[in-house]
Amino acid sequence: MTYIHDTIVRLQKTSPAQAEFYQAVEEVLDSLQPILETSEQYKRHAIIERMVEPERQIMFRVPWVDDQGNVQVNKGYRIEFNSALGPYKGGLRFHPSVNAGIIKFLGFEQIFKNALTGLPIGGGKGGANFDPKGKSDGEIMRFCQSFINELYRHIGPTTDVPAGDIGVGAREIGYMFGQYKRLTGNYDGVFTGKSLLWGGSLVRKEATGYGCVYFAEYMLESKGDTLAGKTCLVSGAGNVAIYTIEKLYQLGARPVTCSDSSGTLYHEAGINLDTLKQLKEVRKVRLNEYLVVHPDAKFIPVEDYPADGNAVWRISGQLAFPCATQNELSEADAKTLVANGCIAVSEGANMPSTQDAVEVFLDARIHYGPGKAANAGGVATSQLEMAQNASMQRWSFEEVDEKLKVIMKNIFLSASSTAAEFGEPHNLVLGANIAGFRKVADAMIEQGVV
Ligand code: GLU
Repeated sequence: MTYIHDTIVRLQKTSPAQAEFYQAVEEVLDSLQPILETSEQYKRHAIIERMVEPERQIMFRVPWVDDQGNVQVNKGYRIEFNSALGPYKGGLRFHPSVNAGIIKFLGFEQIFKNALTGLPIGGGKGGANFDPKGKSDGEIMRFCQSFINELYRHIGPTTDVPAGDIGVGAREIGYMFGQYKRLTGNYDGVFTGKSLLWGGSLVRKEATGYGCVYFAEYMLESKGDTLAGKTCLVSGAGNVAIYTIEKLYQLGARPVTCSDSSGTLYHEAGINLDTLKQLKEVRKVRLNEYLVVHPDAKFIPVEDYPADGNAVWRISGQLAFPCATQNELSEADAKTLVANGCIAVSEGANMPSTQDAVEVFLDARIHYGPGKAANAGGVATSQLEMAQNASMQRWSFEEVDEKLKVIMKNIFLSASSTAAEFGEPHNLVLGANIAGFRKVADAMIEQGVV
């Protein structure tokens, strides 16, 4: 206990004002207690002390010119956290909330998530406090080009391979790749999440959402249950939420909600996927426009949310898929979900449940798939994209989807068998954290003090 406490206190001093980062570190260290007690080599090699300190942090100015001719400046980041298992791998987030603490929490989570996939990828994350909302295509392109004018010198197919995250999709990856290619002259697999026209992998777009549903399926299957016929609550309306909804329908479940920064949509008949895609992928407008086509649906604006949480979790459903962002599900939300008969939570977003909410799920003994296990399908499929690029091959949709299923199954088995090994078979937080940690820690020991 004092070891964890001392680590957090030290981080608060040396890396001040990074609340989300301390939260992610505390959650992991908490789960590692049993292994730190029995395996003294991790202390001897100062593995925790090394792991919580990124190998390298790149922070840079991103100047660009808006459509009115004004010069704008944003802050850019790439945190190369841990390369024990492979090149740094992780997305870029463009969102006004981005700061060093947010990118560090995401990068730290990514180390264990990537290790859990069983694939040779290290952990990193990056982004900018740039708000893509309302920006023209030209502004997005100029911002991406300026971002890469600095980042290009730090990345490469065997060193650091960025991808998308909130605010970064195939369009942004296209502009960044184009600028990277212009500056370096290299046509290589330096990004994943690329367009299918020039090096992208089939299923990458769908992978995080599909993987999150496969993970829920494996959790239910372990107790002889299935997704078929279940009412599902989904938050978010971005790439992860859309393909979570798509896969839920394919497996016979009924997703009834989704949400964006303006509010929550509740459609008891089931969210209409075509309308959702039209609104979010094509027109990029707010969710309340859904009511124009489906007047029987309800929209709860954020102003009407409960003070202690999120309206989406106050609707009754059997399965919950938080697919929006960090800390979007509070302790009060978790209690309401459990009271309303929710039997499983599978996280498509990174750290969407607060630590108190996670305790509620674990105490209630419902299935709980933490983000670093349940949403690892995205980055895993990114690695499949890297493998295709490196071997100049192109695999079919079915081939990639089949590999994704196997990876998600192995992540579930690895987290659940590790949880059982440490005497808490239902606790996939403990299982995922220890299983991921062991791989990285053992590799670090073998590679010496570097
Ligand atoms: N941003 C995604 C994640 O949180 C994907 C990262 C990647 O594909 O490299 O895992």
